[in-house]
Amino acid sequence: MTDSLVLAADRVVTPDGVLSAGAVTITGGRIDTVAPADRGVRVLDGCTLVPGFVDIHVHGGGGHSMTTGDPDAVTGAAAFHRGHGTTTILASFVTAPVDELADSAARLAAWLDAGGADGTGGRPCVAGIHYEGPFLAASRCGAQNPAFLVDPTPESGARLIDAAGRWLRMMTIAPERPGAIDLVAAVVAAGGVAAIGHTDASFDEARRAIAAGATVATHLGNAMPPFLHRAPGPIGASLDAPELVCELIADGHHLHDAFLGVVTRTKGAEGVALITDAIAAAGRPDGRYALGGLDVEVRDGAARLVTDDAHPGSLAGSVLTMDAAFRRLVGLGVPLVTASAAASTTPARVLGLAAETGALRPGLRADVVVLDPDWQVRAVIAGGRLVAGTLDG
Ligand SMILES: [Zn+2]
Repeated sequence: MTDSLVLAADRVVTPDGVLSAGAVTITGGRIDTVAPADRGVRVLDGCTLVPGFVDIHVHGGGGHSMTTGDPDAVTGAAAFHRGHGTTTILASFVTAPVDELADSAARLAAWLDAGGADGTGGRPCVAGIHYEGPFLAASRCGAQNPAFLVDPTPESGARLIDAAGRWLRMMTIAPERPGAIDLVAAVVAAGGVAAIGHTDASFDEARRAIAAGATVATHLGNAMPPFLHRAPGPIGASLDAPELVCELIADGHHLHDAFLGVVTRTKGAEGVALITDAIAAAGRPDGRYALGGLDVEVRDGAARLVTDDAHPGSLAGSVLTMDAAFRRLVGLGVPLVTASAAASTTPARVLGLAAETGALRPGLRADVVVLDPDWQVRAVIAGGRLVAGTLDG
């Protein structure tokens, strides 16, 4: 454990602006000060310090799948993503039978309760569980197995909420399903985030979910109807609600760059969260992988369902990492402070973790990514400890 550490770089991205040059002092795993660098301090040349990334939608990575709640696989995926700068991560489960999902959640929750991934002692920080399903629209299922999609009942909703316990962080729900609005309220009452997604909702149906407490749109633009001038749908409702955070998959396959730019400018730094939606194949060679019992083929950076005919299947998650998503946003000319908020501050806030992480601010956990002049990850500090890369040279 590093008791005390000074990190200085040409640029330090804070919620209020960019310090150049700036320094972050770390004591006991927490950020102590964030200030202009003192004369004589060794500055990491050409580098930029940003807060550790917070990825609120991840199914796996590095060959490991998080979707069954297996602690070793969750640790493996979280460690893979941590090497790419993600210091706080959710385990996103894909659609499966309710009993199976509840069992997976209970297993992971018990392990998290025991401190299995609390971010200390070199362990990764897994902040909890995201249920992506099973209360989703069959017509917008994407890579969610349609065989297991159902309407929520008070019992099935409570089953999943209770199984995750205090580790319930998010549930993606199609608002048009009978019983969905009550479930939105139940998730929020239990301390979780209700997200709108994999949905065919009209504008009004999406609005009802937002009024009931939904605060996130799951991968805006993907697995939902398009934004039309007479039928603005869930995209219109999401853009129209200032309190709603839009998840964006910035991999160049899921969204046109212009969509990324327009949504980021429209919603502002507090209204967008970069996510990876990564599957086990992230960081692995092209080839065949499994996702929730479905076959996925990864080729040229895109993961698609395998189809019976030769046609390309639906996109099935991504092989994205948060550093690449951040680079894409910065490459579009999005200001550093906004890109950093989208990668860290806003997702931390929407999960209720703003007092713990998501910014370079005194008092928060010392989660810092050192980016080199090409915006590649040079080093990752999690909880004050160097967990990837190097600070030397
Ligand atoms: Zn997903």
